[in-house]
Amino acid sequence: MTGPVSGPPVASRAGDDARRAEIAANLAKLRGRVADACAAAGRDPGEITLIGVTKTYPSDDVLHLAALGVTDIGENRDQEAAPKAAAVAAAGVAVRWHFIGQLQRNKCRSVARYADVVHSVDGVRLARTLDTARAAGGDTPLDALVQVSIDGDAARGGAVDRSEDADRDLAAVLDAVAGARLLRLRGLMAVAPLGWAADRAFARLAEVAAAVRENYPSADILSAGMSGDLEQAIVHGATHLRVGSALLGLRAPLR
Ligand SMILES: *Cc1c(COP(=O)(O)O)cnc(C)c1O
Repeated sequence: MTGPVSGPPVASRAGDDARRAEIAANLAKLRGRVADACAAAGRDPGEITLIGVTKTYPSDDVLHLAALGVTDIGENRDQEAAPKAAAVAAAGVAVRWHFIGQLQRNKCRSVARYADVVHSVDGVRLARTLDTARAAGGDTPLDALVQVSIDGDAARGGAVDRSEDADRDLAAVLDAVAGARLLRLRGLMAVAPLGWAADRAFARLAEVAAAVRENYPSADILSAGMSGDLEQAIVHGATHLRVGSALLGLRAPLR
């Protein structure tokens, strides 16, 4: 007999302490990178929100991140995010869920139930479906970012500046989100296209964001930068970084 037979539950299982320490060390390194990048760019680290991307990792890792102060959590697939959000809520822990992956219209109902922010609105019909889906759960608005395709290749997600496809045209998508009853247009999201230097990609994104803000001043979020390119994103005005592997470790290949 080595422990008490009754009394308060033990705070964590043996392996959890090691995992939390590993994530804490990664987080310290990451915060150092953000601080250095902000110093180099003349920006205040207080302007930057770190979103921990937990895809492929268990809900326990969300609890670790929350305990370490990272309460903005990103997921890219509804099938994985919905049960994880339920598990975290059941543990009595409140985090802000950011849906960052390509969103199909038939998933809007589910995503609208747990998401606090959707980063990947890239179609007029998608915006309308998401708005209707949100209304099914009450009257709380959902923060929405319009995902921008930096290279104009709509196949990889994102609305396209001056697209011939009216559904994917950036101006039309912005209007659809701004006009939706329960969506709040908060800004833009983008991923640096394959084959583009991050610096060039985020410089282009910053131009688009500046133009968008002239028409929609409240669209002041810029979600850009991941584990490999967050320094360049910070130079070009990112306010929200979506970081997975630098916090939690390399993921097994998904497909
Ligand atoms: C997975 C993912 C990230 C995080 O990528 P890392 O390189 O692991 O930091 C960011 N944004 C989106 C849209 C993702 O799908």
